[in-house]
This record gives sequence, C-alpha cells and structure tokens, in this order.
Amino acid sequence: MRGRGGTVRAIAAVLLAAVLLLYVCAAPLAQHALPPEPAPPPARVLLRAAPVGASTSAEVLAARAAAQAEQPWRDLRLAMVREQIEARGLGTPPVLEAMRAVARHRFVPAELRAQAYEDRPLPIGHGQTISQPYIVAFMTEMLALQPGARALEVGTGSGYQAAVLAELAAEVVTIEIIGALAHSAAERLQRLGYRNVTVVHGDGYFGWPERAPYDAIVVTAAATHIPPPLLAQLRPGGRMAIPLGDTPWTQSLVLVRKAEDGTVTARDVLPVAFVPFTRQLR
Ligand code: SAH
Repeated sequence: MRGRGGTVRAIAAVLLAAVLLLYVCAAPLAQHALPPEPAPPPARVLLRAAPVGASTSAEVLAARAAAQAEQPWRDLRLAMVREQIEARGLGTPPVLEAMRAVARHRFVPAELRAQAYEDRPLPIGHGQTISQPYIVAFMTEMLALQPGARALEVGTGSGYQAAVLAELAAEVVTIEIIGALAHSAAERLQRLGYRNVTVVHGDGYFGWPERAPYDAIVVTAAATHIPPPLLAQLRPGGRMAIPLGDTPWTQSLVLVRKAEDGTVTARDVLPVAFVPFTRQLR
C-alpha cells in the first residue's frame, strides 16, 4: 500500500513539474507564435467627409448636376449602363442609378476622355487603372449597400468607385497608397461635390479604424490574403468584396460575409484581373 501511495505521489509530482515546465515554456512561445503586426505607417486625411446629415450648399449641388448633365457624355453613359451592365443581367435599380449618375469622364486622364465609357479599364498613371464599368457595378452590387451604410474602399485610384459608393452609402472612406493619386482623387471628388467621402493617403492594409465598423468594404487591388485588420473592421452582418490571388492574371473576386455571430464565410464569385495590392507607401 505504502509503495503504491509513493508511486502515486511521484506521478503527481512529475505531472505537476511537467505542467509547470509547459507553462514556463509556453508563455514565451505564445509570444513568439504570432509576430505582432508592424505599426501602420503614418496616414494623412486629404479630404474629410462632412458630418452625416449636414446640408450641402446649392453651389456644390450645382457643380455635381452640371458634371452629370454634360453632353455628349451623358448619352454615352446611359448607353454604357444599358449595354454593358443591364444587358449582362446585372444591376439592382439603385446600383444602375448610381452608375448613371457618376460622370466617369471626369475620372479619367483628359487625353483618354473619349474612351471613358468604353467597356474596359483605362490607365490613370503610376501604373494603375480605373476599373471597367461592369466590374465597378458588379463589386458595388456585391456589397448590397443599404441607405445609411458606411463603406470603406481600399485603392482609391481615380476616385471613381468611391463616387459610385458615395451615391448609395451615407459615408465613404477611401484609402490610397500612392500619394499623387490620393491627392488628385481628393481634389476631384471635392470639385465634383462629393461631400460624404473621406480620402486618406495611407496603407489600406490597416483599414481606417477611426470610422469602423463598416457595413461594407471593397478592395480594388489584388491581395494574397484578406488583411486581418479589414476583417476586424467589418461590422457583423457586413460584406466585403476583395480580389484574391497569387498571380497577376488569375485572381478571384471573393465575397466575404461576416454573420451576426461573427462567423466569416468566403465565396469565389468571378475571375478577375486587378493591379496588385502593395505595401509601399509613396
Ligand atoms: N478603385 C479605383 C481603381 C483602383 S486601381 C478607381 O475606381 O479608379 C487599385 C489602386 O489600389 C491603385 O491606385 C493602387 O495604388 C492602390 N493600392 C494598392 N495597394 C494598396 C494599399 N495597400 N492601400 C491602399 N491602396 C492600395
């Protein structure tokens, strides 16, 4: 009996020692398992949205209406929506209305204006492109924006997708990593009377926690994975559209949904080709 008791005590002692050892070793291990995210590089707000519900001056509204009415662009734009978007079976009425409203010719370089309503992406300088109208409509539709929604875009580029979102959402935050593009988009959106858009020059990998959570997030550059900070800033019940892929020509547009209980699901919806998501602030 005595012998057995001793054995039990010995086993207990060994177990206790093992647990302690595990604890001592696991603590530093746990710290090393996940390297902390590097601190975000400094980001700058270039245009700040007016508070939700603030009234818009008659002058700003007139600037917007004038850009929308410009001919022959308006006719070309209505044809673009009919032939490139509706004809392909896309478009809930609010998305079609937003695509009819935004003066796309004001978002492309002057020398490419004549091609603004063609069925393709166009270069906007710095090796970047404004997406094909159909893709902009498609991604906007994926977000199922409700009036009053707050949306985040990563990859401002020309500011065109942000303007389309701004027609549908109460507030839009858009982040661009190339300073020159961020500045020109901010200036353009302000001139065209988009009062509900905030433009940030920064690395969109980190999102924009200041206005989180977002009902919708759209990433317009191809990433290899979903940036965790963006997922964290998505509201439960929210949607994210993001092109994912490891190579420049084979990416998949992915619809990410966060359920009310926080469960995340992702589904491939369309093969696409986007410019790469980069981490170099310039
Ligand atoms: N949505 C744009 C098209 C964008 S092209 C439009 O409507 O015109 C993709 C843009 O994403 C490029 O301007 C590129 O500089 C930007 N980009 C790439 N990586 C980024 C990052 N980490 N953060 C913010 N912007 C990024």
